[in-house]
Amino acid sequence: MTLLSTSMLSAAFGQVFYGDPPDDHHPWAIHDQNRPKPPVVTPGTFSTPEQAGKPPSDAIVLFDGKDLSKWKSAKEEGGPAQWLVKDGYMEVVAKAGDIRTIEEFGDCQLHVEWAAPAKVEGSSQGRGNSGIFLMGLCEVQVLDCYNNETYADGYAGSVYGVNPPMANPLRPPGQFQVYDIVFRRPIYREGKVVDPGYVTVFVNGVLVQDHTPLEGPTGHMRRTTPGPFPERGPLKLQDHGNPVRFRNIWYRKLPPRAVEGGTDGWLTPEATMAKRREIAETIRKDAAKLPTPLPRMYRLFESLIYQKDAAAQQEAEDLARQYVASLRQLSPDQLTAKKDEVKRLDTVFQYLNRHGFLAADFGPKVEVQKLIKDQRWDKR
Ligand code: MG
Repeated sequence: MTLLSTSMLSAAFGQVFYGDPPDDHHPWAIHDQNRPKPPVVTPGTFSTPEQAGKPPSDAIVLFDGKDLSKWKSAKEEGGPAQWLVKDGYMEVVAKAGDIRTIEEFGDCQLHVEWAAPAKVEGSSQGRGNSGIFLMGLCEVQVLDCYNNETYADGYAGSVYGVNPPMANPLRPPGQFQVYDIVFRRPIYREGKVVDPGYVTVFVNGVLVQDHTPLEGPTGHMRRTTPGPFPERGPLKLQDHGNPVRFRNIWYRKLPPRAVEGGTDGWLTPEATMAKRREIAETIRKDAAKLPTPLPRMYRLFESLIYQKDAAAQQEAEDLARQYVASLRQLSPDQLTAKKDEVKRLDTVFQYLNRHGFLAADFGPKVEVQKLIKDQRWDKR
């Protein structure tokens, strides 16, 4: 069916009237130019054992090695975070207690680096133990597991008590380990699970948790109780009595999932139609601002792909009739100059007809097809 090459099409229409239209579960057409473009993010730099890397440009930095201004004690009575800050890292001070961020947040990409004490003391869960508590509730274990065995669901990179890491890629104690975590909180509505929540973890670049379902908070010796979960909470770091060090802690917010109003991914028919209406309205507002009939007609037809609308359809068809009538007034030379424009219109009419937005016997469509044939523009 393609009349023009892909590159010509994209140049001519900016890839409108191009890919499959939206359906009941996907509000955007395929290759849709109306779809918001990804924001530019300047990437950071990777860390070396000696030096922490730089966070990406849209990261919210929680600890940059200088101070604990973004943190406080996690004790009920609150108070400042009483951990040691030195040489670009913070260090657990035994009995000072867990610390937590002042800010509370939910779904995120989280980056944390930590180092177990170089001087090896204790064994199993007693060696270089700390923890990263997502929203203060779900622990991704921090433990010196280098030549140190413990129960599988308590290894470094485990979702503590829930799921062991798929590998143990730890560096020796004293060296910084890099955790990259993707966290989606559990969502419950009226007591029912809508999304169990998930955590994905890379340890030193090695995948150890692959979209592991959460259900609820993690705990020691206790199975998770599924149930209501808050929308946001602090990031908490554990004081397990071992002088574990942390550096370079930052996170990036994640966009909402479809179940909470996000419009990427597979949507319900209701959510899809709501988004399609919104897209159609935006396009119609844009069409209303266009002074020239042809671009305005295209934009109106485009809006119909998202949502049927009698007035928009009528206006677009009227503009099409006017345009085709204007072609009849042209001299042969003037008409020849319009060849590309007319062929473009024919392609659009065919797209609209193919996807059910325009009748096969729509007058201007038939007339344009005939004109192309008469002019032998369909021949190479
Ligand atoms: Mg721990």
